[in-house]
Amino acid sequence: MQLRRPTRQVTVGDARTGVIKIGGDAPISVQTMTAGYTHDVDKCVAEINRLAAAGADIVRVAVPEKKDTEALRHIIPQVQVPIVADVHFHFQRALEAVEAGVHKIRLNPGNIQDREQVIEVIKACKAANGGGGIPIRIGVNEGSIIERKDKQKRMKELGAVFSGSKHGHLLAIMIAKLEEYLDIFYAQDFRDIVISAKSMDAALTIDAYTEISKRFDHPLHLGVTHAGPKETGTIRSVAALGGLLINGIGDTIRFSYANDPIYEVEDGLELLYSLGKRERIGVDLIACPTCGRIQVDLFTLIQDVRKALAAKVTIPMKVAVMGCIVNGPGEAEGADVAVFAGDRRGIIYVQGEKVANVPEPEILARLLKECLDFQDKVRRGEAKLGEKKVEIIPPDPMGELGSGFAKIAGGGVEKRAIPLTVGKS
Ligand code: SF4
Repeated sequence: MQLRRPTRQVTVGDARTGVIKIGGDAPISVQTMTAGYTHDVDKCVAEINRLAAAGADIVRVAVPEKKDTEALRHIIPQVQVPIVADVHFHFQRALEAVEAGVHKIRLNPGNIQDREQVIEVIKACKAANGGGGIPIRIGVNEGSIIERKDKQKRMKELGAVFSGSKHGHLLAIMIAKLEEYLDIFYAQDFRDIVISAKSMDAALTIDAYTEISKRFDHPLHLGVTHAGPKETGTIRSVAALGGLLINGIGDTIRFSYANDPIYEVEDGLELLYSLGKRERIGVDLIACPTCGRIQVDLFTLIQDVRKALAAKVTIPMKVAVMGCIVNGPGEAEGADVAVFAGDRRGIIYVQGEKVANVPEPEILARLLKECLDFQDKVRRGEAKLGEKKVEIIPPDPMGELGSGFAKIAGGGVEKRAIPLTVGKS
């Protein structure tokens, strides 16, 4: 893993919402965007609070109309997380959002190009927050990067993209537009900037951010735009963002799905946890993929365990749920709490000590109890996370091995697993 690329740092938020720093040595933050209408104040507040509770560090809202920026005045005092106004086409929306007390503005160089208008927004952001200023994200998007107004320029850019290397030309256009736009900001001596350069294509996203990271020292907001439904969006986002983060590139991230944005928060956090880029809040769940030796309905059990623990455990406890006792103990080594299935029963261990052997219907409740008891012990200082006291000795196999096939063939298995959700403690 490469060291994190050094960048400037920007500050988003205020004393009431909490302050999130982006770039420099700040933890990599997770962002998302509300899916509902901003002007529907109560619903928007509820959605923002739900996303913040799931772990979103920053929430962005769309402000296509004046009624949306007016709503911000009522929304911002009711939420506990910094809010970004997503501005397209109308620079006035940015001015109104700043006036309403928003914590950051996102501008798209593809649709707000007029130099004087951009300067007005920059001046407003500089003066905001009692003169302390608020940052602006310059969000270049592949989808809006080709010139729209100037016909001649548009034909030239389109011609380049559709002849020869589409990837190379798009990349060149993205960088050129970004440089052109940044010049306006530098001329105003405004450096409180975050950059994003998103594409639908994971490879282009990696190349764009890599190139930008070599040229500018502004913090980078990573994302794959319009990544699609969660099923494909996850792969695209993890491929691009994971690759960049491993190479030390990226200071804040957003997964974008055509789905409930709560998944964007959960998956963004899980990616950062998996790469060791953020300290985990809540359970680190280990589960076997199941095989012909499975001894309980593990697919159902693992989803039930995930939901139950996500709601109640707020320390980074490692919990293993294993379908049998053949390979389970070895695979679960290092888990604080583990259950191994055997003959429709669950054998539960806490830091290597066997504490229960219960029939299948009682596994969930007993496992939850052991996890909560262990959490209390850790909080009282009587136990330490990751401290395995006793080796797990695999018990003898019980009953007949294998029971998962019938379940899968019968269609009783949830087709897509949802990643672990954790709440802020
Ligand atoms: S723990 Fe048992 S059931 Fe699960 S994959 Fe390993 S061998 Fe198969």
